[in-house]
Amino acid sequence: MGEQRRPNVILLVIDTLREDHAGGLEALRDLGFVKYENAIAPAPWTLPSHVSMVTGLYPSQHGVHEVYGVYAGAMMELSRRRMSKLNRGIMGELMKEGYSAYVISANPLISAAYGFGGVTEGLMADDACRRHKECKDYERLTTTLSRHEGYLLGAALELIRDGEVRLLLSGLRMLTRLRLGRLAGRLGLHDPTMEKGSLAILDFLRGRPFTEPFLMLINIMEAHGPYTVKDTDLRLTTRAFLEAVFFNRLDEEVVNLNRQSYPRHAAYAARRALEIIHALRGYLDRSLVIVTSDHGELLGDGGIYHGYFLKDGLLRVPLWVRWPSWARPVKQEGAFVSLAQVPSIVRAAINGETSSLGSDVVLAESFGPQVRPESFYREGELPREAIKRAFSHRVRVYTRRGSATYNVDSDDFEEVSGDVQELTKVVRDVASGLAR
Ligand SMILES: [Zn+2]
Repeated sequence: MGEQRRPNVILLVIDTLREDHAGGLEALRDLGFVKYENAIAPAPWTLPSHVSMVTGLYPSQHGVHEVYGVYAGAMMELSRRRMSKLNRGIMGELMKEGYSAYVISANPLISAAYGFGGVTEGLMADDACRRHKECKDYERLTTTLSRHEGYLLGAALELIRDGEVRLLLSGLRMLTRLRLGRLAGRLGLHDPTMEKGSLAILDFLRGRPFTEPFLMLINIMEAHGPYTVKDTDLRLTTRAFLEAVFFNRLDEEVVNLNRQSYPRHAAYAARRALEIIHALRGYLDRSLVIVTSDHGELLGDGGIYHGYFLKDGLLRVPLWVRWPSWARPVKQEGAFVSLAQVPSIVRAAINGETSSLGSDVVLAESFGPQVRPESFYREGELPREAIKRAFSHRVRVYTRRGSATYNVDSDDFEEVSGDVQELTKVVRDVASGLAR
């Protein structure tokens, strides 16, 4: 056990960045980062994966995961409750130890509504806003709009009545820019799906000093869909996703769209991540910096999109760590690193421990698609058997001997590669150790 220091902790999550499309991050090496191989996301979608990253627990242990019949709103409530019960993991722990905390996110799931609140300062970024103050306006505007059920004129009249003319003008500017961007997109002059909030995040980071020591959780969305003007129509993509989940049918058009566009978006996201690291360069030597992703994206390889399938394209994520200047970089001894180990990486940096990183066995879990199937299928269109199969608790286990996907509910091995006998035993052990 070494001397205790208080490094800042910066966790930069590049949402939806596949490990095999993260080559742009190699530039981190020149900035003193160490690359860790075989990093595995604990879940194939944002919310459970982030909760694992801050609490150090797998989804079935922290309980924030998809459930049949529980979708958006109820999921929000569930996540907030579980996060509060777990004292927001490493976030709460470090705040109790006198850290400031910042959550700077372009993903609506990583927000106070889902239990990532109670911080020193937060920023909800969006593709509608370019500067961080604009994002604060945007938040107030969307609240006003929702009070008027999306009726623009009603919301505008309320703002005028309340003397909020500046806010109204700011809203009109954002709306005009969005519309012009989409028009330019349709004319093929500009890709309006590229920028998803990073500019506002950079503006926030460059504009001011932060109170040290701090914990900073940043989420950027540039590698996340939509990838083209065409798939800004979410019905197209959600439908394609559900067809893959329930009927094992891959929509060729959407698959091709993604295969052609995703690499560009992933590269763009990596560039934005590097800009963010540069914006924080004044802090780097006093910080533990972790750059990773919460999950990848399937491009027709074993499914489509993220949120359900337990495939390498979704679960293998990049992991780069920059240790504080006084700490020796920790070596990777185990074959795999789970993102559920993030809190122990943070503890290792704070306590100056030189323990190694990695495990012989790591896992990922899925419980079903987090999209309400009834909103796309009519009564009877979905066979009960398909629903039951989709909403199963599955565990994918990675070991030095291979990997396997196990359906806990039906006690089926759905995919095994490697030493079958050994894996069967390990997987059953792991599954029986998980909360049911
Ligand atoms: Zn995500």
